Order: sequence, then structure tokens, then C-alpha cells
Amino acid sequence: MDHSILISQIQALVPMDDEGTILQDASLLIRGNQIEALGPAEQLAQWVNRADEVIDGRNLLVLPGLVNTHHHMFQSLTRAMAQNDELFQWLHTLHPIWGGLRGEDVYISAKLAMAELLLSGCTTTSDHLYLFPNDVRLEDEIRAATEMGIRFHAARGAMSLGKSKGGLPPDHICEEEEAILQDMQRVIEAHHDADPYSMLRIVLAPCAPFTVTHDLMIEAAMLARSYGVSLHTHLAENDNDVQYSLEHFKMRPGEYVESLGWLGSDVWHAHCVKLDAAEIQLFARNHTGVCHCPVSNMRLASGIAPIRQMLDAKVAVGLGVDGTASNDSGNLLQETRQALLLQRVAGDPAGLSAREALTLATRGGADVLGREDIGRLAPSMAADIIAFRTDQVSFAGAQHDLLAGLVFSPPPGVTHSWVNGKPRVKDGILLDVDLPLLIEKHNQCAHRLIAAG
Ligand SMILES: [Zn+2]
Repeated sequence: MDHSILISQIQALVPMDDEGTILQDASLLIRGNQIEALGPAEQLAQWVNRADEVIDGRNLLVLPGLVNTHHHMFQSLTRAMAQNDELFQWLHTLHPIWGGLRGEDVYISAKLAMAELLLSGCTTTSDHLYLFPNDVRLEDEIRAATEMGIRFHAARGAMSLGKSKGGLPPDHICEEEEAILQDMQRVIEAHHDADPYSMLRIVLAPCAPFTVTHDLMIEAAMLARSYGVSLHTHLAENDNDVQYSLEHFKMRPGEYVESLGWLGSDVWHAHCVKLDAAEIQLFARNHTGVCHCPVSNMRLASGIAPIRQMLDAKVAVGLGVDGTASNDSGNLLQETRQALLLQRVAGDPAGLSAREALTLATRGGADVLGREDIGRLAPSMAADIIAFRTDQVSFAGAQHDLLAGLVFSPPPGVTHSWVNGKPRVKDGILLDVDLPLLIEKHNQCAHRLIAAG
């Protein structure tokens, strides 16, 4: 029989169901990698003596694990650099440094970024790795995810359009398109697990319309669809990005991705800050997903993504921390708060509610990644669960509405988390990871990379 864990007498259990339920004095039973049951504590009382492990939930707020749908984990090596630039200038500064990346750097920085995510309540993450200089391979971060025990959607990114061909990045950090497509096929065949409760899926993700050709976008879409894997890229991030699209393709970003076949429930685009009303309708009609990255959009002065309009139009929207060089944090709980606040900066104090912000960070992210087994707590869903102690400073005065307290006033980190039924954080401590040693190794990689750049 699979290992069973009962979280008993939970103060507030938020399953993120359609009805907006909050259960008080509830219990939740995990069996193996799935949720077996949840409900009022007295209904599950028989399990107090029968479960292999019992966690006292009397001071806990319990929710589904958070889902991060956009990141560039290698950028944690260049945190807080190019501090006062917009996107294109910021890339000009950082591209030459990132050109020195080695496989070990990608592995160590991915572990560091995953630690940061896990400690902030994230249980599933995607990562968009689009630079493959030196000996870098997608396996470097797949290995990190396996060791950290986080559910992972590894996006095989790419850049092929160097400066000499009219693109943005320097030529020497770009790859040949034939080699890119071959490697994309190789990683799908080697690693993609389409089964329910999968811990590892592959995504194809040419970096952005200004760093790859039209042909690569189309061929990557055909390849992805032949294997049933998802597609991901950056889109309409700021005014310069839209200007590039108008100049080079004579189309707005939404029209351009439509012309490439990059719309559909198997596609999600990061940012979409500058989508207009017609493009939002286009995305809604085609069930195309969006990843909202509020902190990165503020950091690079990109603008305020029209998330309220997207939600009203029924566009699937998830949340992402974006790369650590433009956030510069990888804290998904803080990102949830910033999503709530940024919609209000546009002028509407009800621009995004606490529950809506939390929906982006859970169910919204699951939708965008094409997953039906995460993002909610219900029987047979994956046991990706997070819990926060409610007797800590940040919740003081918010006992009347703990869900709102979590979003308006996030605690410093998650108290407990389980991914696929396995404990990853216990009493605020990340399990099975020597964090000080990881930080030290990470800083050594960062020093070498920056000195060489
Ligand atoms: Zn990005």
C-alpha cells in the first residue's frame, strides 16, 4: 500500500474549486502521489489512527501548490545587473555575459532557482532555456529538477537570428536552425512524459520573434504538434517589441503568431503586455494561453499587461516570475501579490481580487501548461500541496480572511510543501538540499561568468 499522510484539522483548506470553497476544520488525505480525500475533519477522523503519518493542521492554511509558467533560471547568475535599462538595451548588456555559460552553470543556477521557487510555495515550474553555448544541454536543468523534486516543464528554447541577419543577439550565441530542430526532437524522444502525474514534460520554445526566423517558428510548431508537446515564446513585451513586429513582419504580434500557426490550447506566450483588444479576442477564440510576469514588466518599464481585459474575455492566464535578471527574485508568492497590485495601478481598485490573483498562480498556470492533474485540490489530483502557518506575523490581523491575507501580505515563505506526495519543505526548511553549499557554488559560477564576460 502506498504511503499515506493525513493533514488533520486544517484551520483553512482552499481547494481552489469552481465554487470558491474555503473549508474550516478540514482534513486532507494523501496516498502515494495523489490526493485520496478531503473534507470536514470529522469525516476523515478514522484516518488519524490509520494514516502512516499525521500532520497537525490546526494552525495551517492549505492550498494547491503554485505553478510558475515562465522563467530563465540561468539568469540567477546575473541578478541585479543592467539595472536601469529597457528590454532591448538590457539584452545588449547581458547577451555577451550569458555567452560564457557552461553546463555546470546551468545545472547549479537551475537548482538555486528551484530552491527559491519551492521555498515560496511553487510545486510546478517551467523553465525557458534558450542559450546553448559551450557544453550546455537541456539535460543540465532536467538533472536539477530531478534532484530538487519539483514538477518540471523544460522548454527547449533557441536563438538563430543573430545581428548579421537582422536579429538582436550577437551571432556567436546563436545556433543553426537544423541543429536546433534536431536537438528539439532528441529531447522530446529522450525525456517527454505525457502521462498523468508526469514530473517532466518537454516544451518547444524559440526565444522570441526578434531572435529566430519565421521558418524556425513554423517548423518548431509542426514538430511540437507531431509529438503532442506544447509551444511557448515571448510576445508583445513592450513598445519596441511591437515596433520590431510592424517593421519586420508588417503585422502586429498577434497577427504574426496567427500567421505562424502559433495559436491554440497547446501554446502559451509570455508577457503579452501590449496585446490590443482585437488580439485579446483572437487569443480567447483560439484558447491560447498567456503568462503574466508583473515584476519583470515593472522592472524593465514594459508596461501593465491588460490582465483584467484578458480574464473578462476568458483568456487562460498563468503567472510567471520571468528570469532572475529581470525580476530579480524568483518568489512566486510575491509575484502573486504584485499581480494583484499592478492591475490596480491601471486605476481600478478592483482590477484583480485576491482570489483571482491566486487563481492565476494555481489553476491558471495549470491550464496554461495543459495540465488537468494540478492546480486544484480534489480526489485523484496530484498531491502538490502547500501549507502556511497562520500564527506568523504576516497573518496577524488577517485571521478573518486568510486567503486574502496570504495574497495581500505574503509570509516570508511556505511552511510545508509536498510535490507528487513527497515532502519538499518541512517547517520552512528545504529538504535534502545543502542550501548554503548550493549558494556558495552558485556564487562561484556567477563570479567566473561575469569576470569572463
Ligand atoms: Zn522571459
